[in-house]
Amino acid sequence: MYKLKNTIRDYAWGSTTLISDYLGTDPSGAPEAEMWLGAHAGSPSSALREHGAIPLDRLISADPDRLLGTRCREAFGDRLPFLMKLLAAGSPLSLQVHPSNEQAAAGFVAEEAAGVPLEAAHRNYKDAHHKPEMILALTPIEALCGFRPAAEAASIFGHLAGAFREVGTEVPPVLEQVRDMLDGGGEPAAVGAAFALLIRGGISVVDAVESVAGILRLGIPVGPFAKELATALELSEAYPGDPGVLISLMLNRVSLTPGQAVFLPSGNIHAYLSGLGIEVMASSDNVLRGGLTAKHIDTDELLNTVDFSPLPVPLLEAFSPTAGVHLWQPPFDEFVLQRMEVVAGDDGLPLTGGTPSILLVVSGSGRLSSTGQSLSLNRGDSVFVSANEDLPTLHGIGSEPLVAFAATVPLHVTAAR
Ligand SMILES: [Zn+2]
Repeated sequence: MYKLKNTIRDYAWGSTTLISDYLGTDPSGAPEAEMWLGAHAGSPSSALREHGAIPLDRLISADPDRLLGTRCREAFGDRLPFLMKLLAAGSPLSLQVHPSNEQAAAGFVAEEAAGVPLEAAHRNYKDAHHKPEMILALTPIEALCGFRPAAEAASIFGHLAGAFREVGTEVPPVLEQVRDMLDGGGEPAAVGAAFALLIRGGISVVDAVESVAGILRLGIPVGPFAKELATALELSEAYPGDPGVLISLMLNRVSLTPGQAVFLPSGNIHAYLSGLGIEVMASSDNVLRGGLTAKHIDTDELLNTVDFSPLPVPLLEAFSPTAGVHLWQPPFDEFVLQRMEVVAGDDGLPLTGGTPSILLVVSGSGRLSSTGQSLSLNRGDSVFVSANEDLPTLHGIGSEPLVAFAATVPLHVTAAR
């Protein structure tokens, strides 16, 4: 078992307070967006040893059998297959989608062969892996996630057109075009065509976004879609003229309360708008952006990646395998997430043995002990637990329960990669 030191990445959309308030640390003053807990080469955690710290990816590759265990290695090779993050959105992230394994592998090889530098602004694939993910809300989280039914999206665009007519202003032709496409039937093709029209942009789309912002500034039309339209106005203030403003109206508008989670398979288009959550994903940094960004958008690659099928919001329910444990098990092979709560005097909660885990303590104090080792734990501490650790068990100390989140490679993994 190794205590970890983790990098916090500052991005413009990060929150200056959410992560430090949650972990009880001193805020840096910068927009602290993501704390990475894992072994991804982009920002690996440091494993603290008696004789100095070492990046977790290097520690693992020096002794993969001990750290990852046989089953994890057979399924995923000599790398930690998941990455856990604390994600804190002070303002909206870009609309984004993540590729499948096949796409990521082919895209990575092609970009390497073409000599596109890893850090180039137009580089799509940072590694050769897919990035299905889940997020568990720690505070209320506002988000956009996947396509709503085309007919519903059409009625939002119709509603918006009505707002123009009401004040006697000409309706931007793009709005009526998109509504007609969505109304034409034939999902997911209709959704894909409307999305493509918007994302390809051009003057008429920019003009439409700006006219829509102008109308919404006069007042959000009351009715069933007030929340969606208020979000569009907010997005247009942050990203004037961005096609993502209109695309947001085609997506499910999701509000998660603390304890609720969603999972996002490859191809699902999404954007987190605000809030703090624990995000777990297959260890990858492959993102294709689809609006609400000043960064590079590879439109063709994006259109090949997005799944245009309207789907209900992919909520992920937890179950409780044992007292004190809530477990979220998305339909991916790389990880499960557990919330563990233990009080002083209880027997202690065992972690799954034979497979690697990363643990983050979010409140209380206690210790993590195995047959050969014992680490004291306080709020904000994190630990990498090796697969070969014998009977790792979490204990509480003091009056406050110890609460920790643990991401673990499930032992049922079968898919060879
Ligand atoms: Zn994502």
